[in-house]
Amino acid sequence: MIVIKFGGSSLKTVRKIDHCIGIVKAALPRRPVVVVSAHGGTTDRLIQAAKEALAGKVDLDRITEFHLILLDSLRLERSLVKDLLDGLETILRGVSLVRELTPKTMDHVVSFGERISARIMAAALTSRGVPAQPVNAYEIGFVTDSNHGRAAPLPGIEEEIARSLGSLNKVPVVTGFIGRDDLGNITTIGRNGSDYTAAIIGAAVEAEEIQIWTDVDGVMTADPSLGLKVHNLPLLSFGEASELSYYGAEVLHTGTLIPAIRKNIPIRVANTEKPDQPGTRIVTQAAPGDKLAKSIVYKEDVCLINVVSPRLMSASLLLSYALERLTRLGIGVHIAATSVSSVSFVTDGNYPDGLLQKAVEELKELWSVSLERDKAIVCVVGEELRAGAGSLGRIFTVLGEQGVKARLVSQSASELNVAFLVDNSEIKPAVTALHDLLLNDLKQ
Ligand code: ADP
Ligand code: ASP
Ligand code: MG
Repeated sequence: MIVIKFGGSSLKTVRKIDHCIGIVKAALPRRPVVVVSAHGGTTDRLIQAAKEALAGKVDLDRITEFHLILLDSLRLERSLVKDLLDGLETILRGVSLVRELTPKTMDHVVSFGERISARIMAAALTSRGVPAQPVNAYEIGFVTDSNHGRAAPLPGIEEEIARSLGSLNKVPVVTGFIGRDDLGNITTIGRNGSDYTAAIIGAAVEAEEIQIWTDVDGVMTADPSLGLKVHNLPLLSFGEASELSYYGAEVLHTGTLIPAIRKNIPIRVANTEKPDQPGTRIVTQAAPGDKLAKSIVYKEDVCLINVVSPRLMSASLLLSYALERLTRLGIGVHIAATSVSSVSFVTDGNYPDGLLQKAVEELKELWSVSLERDKAIVCVVGEELRAGAGSLGRIFTVLGEQGVKARLVSQSASELNVAFLVDNSEIKPAVTALHDLLLNDLKQ
């Protein structure tokens, strides 16, 4: 079996959907399970509609029109998703009446995107000669915790998923991104999470490959949207891909690698519009290349929290106390650095309203604390960094030449990456300079 996941960008237009259908047809001898995101842009529109409903305005026109045009162009019945659009409207009316939008309700609202796209894709496949059926992930055992918006799939769900999928005799088109908790409430596993769904399903059915079909030629040497002359990376190790996705390569959701590594299933990232090109293969091991590293990634809008103990408390005690407080509030840390009596943490900047401020207030009860926003982590990734003597020197020389001040430099024990902090405004010059270095400079 193989898992074929189509992202929202691949489901945006009829032309792209036709490519998707061609890909599924070609894979039929390998018994595909299809996983779909919502049609491109839909999740954002649903979030917007929910917020408008909270303010008293229920407006589904754009969402309805987009899907009806798609159905017409695919020559499918408009009635195909009527009950779902009606259900969505009912919930939004409820939100507008009670003027309350809980994370649980938000998850329910956004789930309609994937539920609609699974139905449309299954019908489109069927009408083009590939009998397919839509499957809501939460009906085949995709159970998560109740952390709405960022729910974690529960361990041990794979058996039930494999059993349910095994009993179907048409091509399953499974909703990405959504699940349900133990109480039966719909949950979502974090933005961009359909890749993760695909990997969990891949592990469940012990797929021979997990394919992620998207709008770029694979994992690239840097984010293509920066406008640099980027190249496709034909082969990556699981370790490299984990670092790349963790530090910002949107093309793969961070969770995706975990089930794949556990079951040793190769991942292929490829361009839906160029199905004959191999894209990027991600496997257990990839021999280091002859360049300085493989790729440069960045994570925008992170925060720097500096904690200083005026009473010279030891850095390790300070680190453990401060980290415990952040963890208790649900704040994760990407980089931590210590000096004799101070610690610095880099965290995401987009936590719900006031959470970071609350953390700072709590820490201030004991220490002096500062919070700096609008920062970014830039990260150089590649097995090559392990062996390349002098790589760090060259990286920071190039940054210095561009006037970029790198702070909080960190290299993990795996030596697969070098990460550091810059201002958001320095992302472009830093990534451009490092990308030039990466393409032109051979490792020593
Ligand atoms: P999908 O809709 O298929 O899930 P996403 O938008 O989630 O697609 O991910 C694909 C996008 O990831 C690309 O269009 C690209 O802009 C972005 N991206 C960021 N970094 C990288 C990278 N290193 N390699 C490839 N794509 C990247
Ligand atoms: N539709 C969801 C999102 O836009 C999940 C995904 O696309 O993977 O975040
Ligand atoms: Mg995505």
